[in-house]
Amino acid sequence: MDFSIPVDIQTRLDDIRRFVEQELVPLESRLLAADWDGLTDALDEKRSQVQAAGWWAPNLPVGAGGTGASLVELGLISEELGRTPTGHYVFGCQAPDAGNAELLLLHGSEKQRDRYLVPLASGQIRSCFCMTEPEFAGSNPVQMGTVARREGDDYIIEGHKWFATAADGARFAIVMAVTNPDEAKHRRASMILVDCDQDGFSLERNIPVMGHPGSGYFSHGEVRLTQCRVPISQRLGEEGAGFIMAQERLGPGRIHHCMRWLGICRRVVELMCDYALTRQLNADTKLADTQIVQAWIAESAAELQSARALVLETAWIIQEKGFKAARDNVSMIKFITANTLQRIVDRAIQIHGALGVTDDTILSFWYREERAARIYDGPDEVHKLAVARHLLKARARAG
Ligand SMILES: Cc1cc2nc3c(=O)[nH]c(=O)nc-3n(C[C@H](O)[C@H](O)[C@H](O)COP(=O)(O)OP(=O)(O)OC[C@H]3O[C@@H](n4cnc5c(N)ncnc54)[C@H](O)[C@@H]3O)c2cc1C
Repeated sequence: MDFSIPVDIQTRLDDIRRFVEQELVPLESRLLAADWDGLTDALDEKRSQVQAAGWWAPNLPVGAGGTGASLVELGLISEELGRTPTGHYVFGCQAPDAGNAELLLLHGSEKQRDRYLVPLASGQIRSCFCMTEPEFAGSNPVQMGTVARREGDDYIIEGHKWFATAADGARFAIVMAVTNPDEAKHRRASMILVDCDQDGFSLERNIPVMGHPGSGYFSHGEVRLTQCRVPISQRLGEEGAGFIMAQERLGPGRIHHCMRWLGICRRVVELMCDYALTRQLNADTKLADTQIVQAWIAESAAELQSARALVLETAWIIQEKGFKAARDNVSMIKFITANTLQRIVDRAIQIHGALGVTDDTILSFWYREERAARIYDGPDEVHKLAVARHLLKARARAG
């Protein structure tokens, strides 16, 4: 088995790492000051540099304005971008826009692609994805209160959504709504493109998360759809195919997220080491000299490397054999990597002492923002149940 990275890809990864360190990491203090609006001009300038370097939108094919990276390559790029919170945004491959662009690419009509995909892919606009509802368990999304009723050539949408990431400032939303209530439960809902400034679509608030109000791209919106009238031609894909399309979006999306989390872990292990090497406990001893800190560093590095091997293997299986062949792996990487991330950030905060809980380092941002990794895109428990169910079934069949 050959684990080496081809020279041309490694060179690009090295260049991207340098760009992230030199151009994006210095912006972190402004982000920590909760200043999204004040940061957008600087981020736009960095985006132009990324476009000029030919790195823009690695998740999209060349014909759609991207660089057409393979899934494994995309994972490796995502790891580099994950080292700082604005990495994916500056490279035009941030969630939820990346997944929405992929949906438009796969299922959009020509008119939908012209109107939504072209400006989205070039970074002129942002979007959001509205599936989860406060009244229903999101881990079983086939239960859904939002309905889209046909009236002439239009749908009239009524519903209540929340945790629509980046809804603040988004130009359009992909809204999941029940269009076929009498069909089997996985064939009831459709995805509908809704302009966020149209009548009947209202962003009621940015939901504060762990004491942080959120704004712009770094926000999660609560959305109300009231008598929201959109032409039937705004439906994405087949009527009733919403859940099937959402499922398709998950495989590559998980690789993006997991490799982004591993990028965070790598940076955090470096921060751990740097601090341990400089923090003097007394005249003769640094934090790095203590065995317990050495154990935390070693455990963190080992957990990071094992999760990384599984994620890259999963990317390779999806790339070579398709999503179905990687189904259990995709569930495993979700909970393994999210928990690895949480443990490593927690250890780093402990090593930094009081400094670790301040906003003088990036650790507190990740501790706050990334706790949710164990919840969104399917909570840990749902993925564990799915893996166990398949293993038990296979074992029962074999026996
Ligand atoms: C930061 C963040 C960003 C998000 N972004 C988006 C977005 O852009 N668009 C969108 O539509 N949604 C988004 N979500 C919503 C997310 O998809 C849901 O939170 C997730 O699907 C879980 O649904 P729920 O919160 O309703 O939890 P529930 O379904 O109510 O579950 C609550 C808890 O119960 C446990 N649980 C659930 N099922 C089982 C089971 N079968 N067995 C045992 N235990 C179980 C889990 O521990 C789970 O955390 C986001 C959420 C967060 C936190």
